[in-house]
Amino acid sequence: MADDKKLTPRAEDFSAWYNEVVLRAELADYSPVRGCMVIRPDGYGIWERMQRALDDMFKATGHRNAYFPLFIPESFLHKEAQHVEGFAPETAVVTHGGGKALEEPLVVRPTSETIIYAMFAKWVQSYRDLPLLINQWANVVRWEMRTRLFLRTLEFLWQEGHTAHATHDEAEEEARRMLGVYRDFMEGWMAMPVVTGRKTESEKFAGALRTYSCEAMMQDNKALQAGTSHNLGQNFARAFDLTFQTESGGTEYAWNTSWGVSTRLIGGLVMTHGDDKGLRIPPLLAPTEVVIVPIWRSDEERARVFEAAERIARSLGDWERREPNRLRVRLDLRETLKPGAKYYEWEMRGVPVRVELGPRDLEKNQAVLVRRDTGAKQPASLDTIGEDVEALLESIQDAMLTEARARREAHSVRGAITYDRFREIMDGEGAFVYAGWCGNAACEAAIKEETKATIRVLPDEEFRSAEPPTHCLKCNQPATSEALWAKAY
Ligand SMILES: [Zn+2]
Repeated sequence: MADDKKLTPRAEDFSAWYNEVVLRAELADYSPVRGCMVIRPDGYGIWERMQRALDDMFKATGHRNAYFPLFIPESFLHKEAQHVEGFAPETAVVTHGGGKALEEPLVVRPTSETIIYAMFAKWVQSYRDLPLLINQWANVVRWEMRTRLFLRTLEFLWQEGHTAHATHDEAEEEARRMLGVYRDFMEGWMAMPVVTGRKTESEKFAGALRTYSCEAMMQDNKALQAGTSHNLGQNFARAFDLTFQTESGGTEYAWNTSWGVSTRLIGGLVMTHGDDKGLRIPPLLAPTEVVIVPIWRSDEERARVFEAAERIARSLGDWERREPNRLRVRLDLRETLKPGAKYYEWEMRGVPVRVELGPRDLEKNQAVLVRRDTGAKQPASLDTIGEDVEALLESIQDAMLTEARARREAHSVRGAITYDRFREIMDGEGAFVYAGWCGNAACEAAIKEETKATIRVLPDEEFRSAEPPTHCLKCNQPATSEALWAKAY
């Protein structure tokens, strides 16, 4: 760690705090290409764990992985009118290859609906070929003007699920199912609670029939769109002639869904859990779950403490060998740093549990366990330290979700609210505001223009208020639905 200067406090400048944590916890770095980022091993380690968990969940719901090319013929993007309108402004286009102008320019994929449904059209003949359930892990490129590490970069890593079904209802069920998978992952693994619901017409994916989203609250009370799932209807099937023979012998267009989450989730994790000491990583996703820091003064003490620390590390799990079902443990034997400096560094990196071990602890046959989430310390007998650490990691995982959920609820506003009060909230510290909406896009656009807040979702039933709002926040006409408003990343 090059820099031991204190972080900018979150309350002072959340955005500066975020950049400092990402850089100093060594999750990512700026690249020589403007707007791109380098994901460093500690950041990539989180992504690998996210990938593994999600991949298992996708496979458990019947999906298989495949890979489609990075380059898409430019004409493909033009086949679905809304899709090209949505994505054309931010595409990168290759016009030359091998020193020659290409006959047809190639778009570097901003998303892969077009090329994947063109292939599905070749593979699907009859209703017996459906459903077709595919996922791809890949990088995509969107030429963004204003970029932020992990949150918005020119190139990012993601997964995109693409499916084809025989009926609207099956596609709808799939889109909803995958939204649920995302929610389970975000809450169960990331300890990041989300509100799920449907996007309005103006916020839906370019080319979709309906878009569903998981929206998480960051510590500056802004929303992060953490994952989306789309029922694409028959729009892409029509554009790419993706038809199938029905059971009764007719011909029909297939119904598609697509759904994705990206390395943006790492930014969400930082902004949900980080504190003024740095990162806090939920144990299930932490590349290192436990760090052991030996404490000594004399050479004689050092020999004893190192020996015991190595014994504990071996009993918990060997970080280097990565044995399955063992803990991910690191042993910090550096002799050039004082314990305090090591604590500071591992706190910055967000390691969930620190084990402190000194000569006096050894005399008592114990070590001290320190939680990263609360800073609380507890002694653990060296005879039972394995079980104690495992139990502690589990309770940290749960406590982090509880804390994040309580934080979100404390900054959610429900019930009758005037537009003036709403503006005051959005100009001030922000919130998730649940309010009525008449369904008119003009009201939605006016509020966005005046306050920068948008309808994040029309929330699913379990998130709606017990007393539904009766009037539109903006025009005061009768409300047709409850909307979740917030400023967003
Ligand atoms: Zn209205």
